[in-house]
Amino acid sequence: MSLEIVQVYQSLLGIYGDQGNGKVLQKRCEWRGIDAHVTWIEPGQPLPDTGDIFLLGGGEDGAQTAAVRELKADGGLHRAVDRGAVVFAVCAGYQILGHTFGVGDADEPRDGLGLLDVTTTRGPERAVGEVLHRWIGKEGDDAWITGFENHGGYTHLGTDAMPLARVEVGIGNANDGTEGALQGNVVGMYPHGPVLPRNPAIADWLLELALGHELDPLDLPLHDELRRHRLAAVRG
Ligand code: GLN
Repeated sequence: MSLEIVQVYQSLLGIYGDQGNGKVLQKRCEWRGIDAHVTWIEPGQPLPDTGDIFLLGGGEDGAQTAAVRELKADGGLHRAVDRGAVVFAVCAGYQILGHTFGVGDADEPRDGLGLLDVTTTRGPERAVGEVLHRWIGKEGDDAWITGFENHGGYTHLGTDAMPLARVEVGIGNANDGTEGALQGNVVGMYPHGPVLPRNPAIADWLLELALGHELDPLDLPLHDELRRHRLAAVRG
Protein backbone atom coordinates (compact mmCIF):
# COMPACT_ATOMS: atom_id res chain seq x y z
CA MET A 1 0.00 0.00 0.00
CA SER A 2 1.18 3.52 -0.78
CA LEU A 3 -0.21 6.35 1.34
CA GLU A 4 -1.80 8.87 -1.00
CA ILE A 5 -1.49 12.55 -0.04
CA VAL A 6 -3.71 14.74 -2.21
CA GLN A 7 -2.68 18.34 -2.76
CA VAL A 8 -5.95 20.10 -3.61
CA TYR A 9 -6.06 23.00 -6.12
CA GLN A 10 -2.63 24.63 -5.80
CA SER A 11 -3.64 27.16 -8.47
CA LEU A 12 -6.39 28.47 -6.15
CA LEU A 13 -5.20 27.61 -2.65
CA GLY A 14 -1.46 27.77 -3.05
CA ILE A 15 -0.25 31.34 -2.66
CA TYR A 16 1.19 30.99 0.85
CA GLY A 17 3.58 28.09 0.28
CA ASP A 18 1.43 25.61 2.15
CA GLN A 19 2.26 22.90 -0.39
CA GLY A 20 5.35 22.36 1.80
CA ASN A 21 2.99 20.49 4.14
CA GLY A 22 2.58 17.73 1.54
CA LYS A 23 6.34 17.43 1.08
CA VAL A 24 6.83 17.06 4.83
CA LEU A 25 4.21 14.32 5.14
CA GLN A 26 5.70 12.42 2.20
CA LYS A 27 9.28 12.79 3.47
CA ARG A 28 8.45 11.72 7.02
CA CYS A 29 6.92 8.55 5.57
CA GLU A 30 9.96 7.95 3.34
CA TRP A 31 12.37 8.35 6.28
CA ARG A 32 10.47 5.58 8.06
CA GLY A 33 10.34 3.25 5.05
CA ILE A 34 6.60 3.90 4.50
CA ASP A 35 5.63 4.23 0.86
CA ALA A 36 3.80 7.52 0.20
CA HIS A 37 3.17 9.71 -2.81
CA VAL A 38 1.63 13.12 -3.49
CA THR A 39 -1.16 13.49 -6.07
CA TRP A 40 -1.68 17.04 -7.37
CA ILE A 41 -5.27 17.82 -8.33
CA GLU A 42 -6.39 20.97 -10.13
CA PRO A 43 -9.97 22.25 -10.74
CA GLY A 44 -11.67 20.11 -13.38
CA GLN A 45 -9.78 16.97 -12.36
CA PRO A 46 -11.66 14.56 -10.07
CA LEU A 47 -10.40 14.15 -6.51
CA PRO A 48 -9.24 10.54 -6.13
CA ASP A 49 -11.44 8.24 -4.02
CA THR A 50 -8.18 6.51 -3.04
CA GLY A 51 -6.75 9.56 -1.20
CA ASP A 52 -5.71 9.12 2.44
CA ILE A 53 -4.83 12.73 3.37
CA PHE A 54 -6.27 15.78 1.57
CA LEU A 55 -4.43 19.09 1.92
CA LEU A 56 -5.88 22.55 1.34
CA GLY A 57 -3.85 25.74 1.68
CA GLY A 58 -4.27 29.49 1.91
CA GLY A 59 -5.64 31.76 -0.79
CA GLU A 60 -7.50 34.94 -1.58
CA ASP A 61 -11.23 35.52 -1.18
CA GLY A 62 -12.09 35.08 -4.87
CA ALA A 63 -10.06 31.91 -5.12
CA GLN A 64 -11.83 30.51 -2.05
CA THR A 65 -15.22 31.02 -3.68
CA ALA A 66 -14.03 29.28 -6.87
CA ALA A 67 -12.56 26.39 -4.87
CA VAL A 68 -15.88 25.80 -3.07
CA ARG A 69 -17.76 25.78 -6.40
CA GLU A 70 -15.35 23.21 -7.86
CA LEU A 71 -15.23 21.03 -4.77
CA LYS A 72 -19.02 20.95 -4.48
CA ALA A 73 -19.35 19.99 -8.14
CA ASP A 74 -16.74 17.26 -7.71
CA GLY A 75 -18.08 15.78 -4.46
CA GLY A 76 -14.83 13.92 -3.80
CA LEU A 77 -13.93 15.77 -0.60
CA HIS A 78 -17.32 15.00 0.94
CA ARG A 79 -16.91 11.32 0.00
CA ALA A 80 -13.43 11.37 1.51
CA VAL A 81 -14.75 12.71 4.82
CA ASP A 82 -17.58 10.16 4.82
CA ARG A 83 -15.09 7.30 4.53
CA GLY A 84 -12.85 8.73 7.28
CA ALA A 85 -9.97 10.13 5.21
CA VAL A 86 -7.90 12.87 6.83
CA VAL A 87 -8.43 16.47 5.69
CA PHE A 88 -5.86 19.07 6.77
CA ALA A 89 -6.67 22.64 5.77
CA VAL A 90 -4.86 25.91 6.41
CA CYS A 91 -6.38 29.41 6.52
CA ALA A 92 -8.51 29.89 3.37
CA GLY A 93 -8.76 26.10 3.12
CA TYR A 94 -9.89 26.00 6.77
CA GLN A 95 -12.50 28.72 6.22
CA ILE A 96 -14.10 27.01 3.22
CA LEU A 97 -14.59 23.76 5.15
CA GLY A 98 -17.09 25.62 7.34
CA HIS A 99 -20.74 26.49 6.79
CA THR A 100 -20.17 30.06 5.54
CA PHE A 101 -17.34 32.54 5.13
CA GLY A 102 -17.36 36.27 4.34
CA VAL A 103 -15.57 37.82 1.37
CA GLY A 104 -14.41 41.35 0.59
CA ASP A 105 -14.72 44.53 2.63
CA ALA A 106 -18.50 44.08 2.73
CA ASP A 107 -18.06 40.62 4.29
CA GLU A 108 -20.51 39.10 1.79
CA PRO A 109 -21.42 35.64 3.06
CA ARG A 110 -20.56 32.68 0.85
CA ASP A 111 -21.55 29.07 1.40
CA GLY A 112 -18.72 26.76 2.44
CA LEU A 113 -18.51 22.99 2.20
CA GLY A 114 -20.15 22.27 5.57
CA LEU A 115 -17.51 19.72 6.57
CA LEU A 116 -16.55 21.54 9.78
CA ASP A 117 -18.97 23.11 12.26
CA VAL A 118 -17.47 26.61 11.93
CA THR A 119 -18.45 29.94 10.36
CA THR A 120 -16.13 32.77 9.33
CA THR A 121 -16.89 36.49 9.23
CA ARG A 122 -14.60 39.47 8.77
CA GLY A 123 -12.86 40.49 12.01
CA PRO A 124 -12.18 44.01 13.34
CA GLU A 125 -8.48 43.87 12.37
CA ARG A 126 -6.46 41.70 10.00
CA ALA A 127 -4.48 39.05 11.86
CA VAL A 128 -0.89 39.21 10.64
CA GLY A 129 2.26 37.96 12.34
CA GLU A 130 4.14 35.17 14.03
CA VAL A 131 1.98 33.07 16.35
CA LEU A 132 2.50 30.77 19.29
CA HIS A 133 -0.18 28.32 20.32
CA ARG A 134 -0.48 25.50 22.83
CA TRP A 135 -1.87 22.27 21.38
CA ILE A 136 -4.76 21.08 23.58
CA GLY A 137 -4.23 17.65 25.10
CA LYS A 138 -0.50 17.47 24.23
CA GLU A 139 2.37 17.64 26.69
CA GLY A 140 5.95 18.79 26.44
CA ASP A 141 7.77 20.80 23.81
CA ASP A 142 5.83 19.24 20.92
CA ALA A 143 2.71 20.98 22.21
CA TRP A 144 4.03 24.42 21.20
CA ILE A 145 2.75 25.36 17.75
CA THR A 146 4.72 27.94 15.78
CA GLY A 147 3.61 29.55 12.53
CA PHE A 148 2.62 32.72 10.73
CA GLU A 149 -0.97 33.95 10.43
CA ASN A 150 -2.39 36.28 7.78
CA HIS A 151 -6.18 36.44 7.65
CA GLY A 152 -9.03 38.93 7.69
CA GLY A 153 -11.68 36.32 8.43
CA TYR A 154 -12.41 35.34 12.04
CA THR A 155 -13.67 31.81 12.60
CA HIS A 156 -16.30 30.86 15.18
CA LEU A 157 -16.68 27.25 16.28
CA GLY A 158 -20.02 25.46 16.65
CA THR A 159 -20.60 22.69 19.16
CA ASP A 160 -19.48 19.84 16.87
CA ALA A 161 -15.99 21.28 16.33
CA MET A 162 -13.31 21.21 19.04
CA PRO A 163 -10.60 23.89 19.20
CA LEU A 164 -7.18 22.48 18.40
CA ALA A 165 -5.06 24.84 20.49
CA ARG A 166 -4.99 27.78 22.91
CA VAL A 167 -3.52 31.05 21.68
CA GLU A 168 -0.41 32.37 23.44
CA VAL A 169 0.61 34.94 20.80
CA GLY A 170 -1.57 36.08 17.90
CA ILE A 171 -5.26 36.22 17.02
CA GLY A 172 -6.01 32.57 16.16
CA ASN A 173 -9.63 31.76 15.33
CA ALA A 174 -11.29 34.99 16.40
CA ASN A 175 -9.21 36.63 19.15
CA ASP A 176 -11.15 34.40 21.56
CA GLY A 177 -8.16 32.43 22.85
CA THR A 178 -8.72 29.45 20.55
CA GLU A 179 -6.93 28.31 17.42
CA GLY A 180 -7.98 25.79 14.78
CA ALA A 181 -10.73 23.19 14.78
CA LEU A 182 -11.02 19.43 14.82
CA GLN A 183 -14.05 17.32 13.94
CA GLY A 184 -13.48 13.61 13.33
CA ASN A 185 -10.52 13.42 10.96
CA VAL A 186 -11.09 16.93 9.58
CA VAL A 187 -8.57 19.48 10.87
CA GLY A 188 -8.39 23.18 10.10
CA MET A 189 -5.95 25.79 11.39
CA TYR A 190 -4.62 29.25 10.55
CA PRO A 191 -0.81 29.05 10.67
CA HIS A 192 1.24 29.12 7.49
CA GLY A 193 4.99 28.71 7.59
CA PRO A 194 4.31 26.16 6.19
CA VAL A 195 3.09 24.80 9.49
CA LEU A 196 4.20 21.15 9.26
CA PRO A 197 7.97 21.70 8.86
CA ARG A 198 7.77 23.99 11.90
CA ASN A 199 5.70 21.48 13.86
CA PRO A 200 6.66 17.92 12.89
CA ALA A 201 4.55 16.53 15.74
CA ILE A 202 1.43 17.72 13.91
CA ALA A 203 2.66 16.03 10.72
CA ASP A 204 3.15 12.76 12.57
CA TRP A 205 -0.24 13.05 14.24
CA LEU A 206 -1.91 13.43 10.79
CA LEU A 207 0.05 10.45 9.48
CA GLU A 208 -0.99 8.37 12.49
CA LEU A 209 -4.64 9.30 11.91
CA ALA A 210 -4.34 8.20 8.28
CA LEU A 211 -2.32 5.03 8.93
CA GLY A 212 -4.30 3.99 12.01
CA HIS A 213 -1.22 3.22 14.10
CA GLU A 214 1.46 5.03 16.10
CA LEU A 215 4.78 6.00 14.54
CA ASP A 216 8.24 5.83 16.05
CA PRO A 217 9.75 9.28 16.55
CA LEU A 218 12.40 10.52 14.09
CA ASP A 219 15.66 11.94 15.37
CA LEU A 220 16.37 15.00 13.19
CA PRO A 221 18.61 17.54 15.01
CA LEU A 222 18.35 20.09 12.17
CA HIS A 223 14.56 20.14 12.55
CA ASP A 224 14.87 20.61 16.31
CA GLU A 225 17.14 23.58 15.65
CA LEU A 226 14.67 25.14 13.18
CA ARG A 227 11.99 24.75 15.82
CA ARG A 228 14.13 26.36 18.51
CA HIS A 229 14.76 29.34 16.20
CA ARG A 230 11.08 29.82 15.40
CA LEU A 231 9.99 29.51 19.03
CA ALA A 232 12.70 31.94 20.18
CA ALA A 233 11.65 34.42 17.46
CA VAL A 234 8.04 34.54 18.62
CA ARG A 235 8.82 34.52 22.34
CA GLY A 236 11.10 37.54 21.77
N1 GLN B 1 -8.87 35.27 2.34
C1 GLN B 1 -8.87 34.76 3.66
C2 GLN B 1 -8.77 35.82 4.75
O1 GLN B 1 -8.18 36.87 4.54
C3 GLN B 1 -7.78 33.72 3.83
C4 GLN B 1 -6.39 34.28 3.73
C5 GLN B 1 -5.31 33.22 3.75
O2 GLN B 1 -5.51 32.12 3.30
N2 GLN B 1 -4.14 33.58 4.22
O3 GLN B 1 -9.26 35.62 5.82
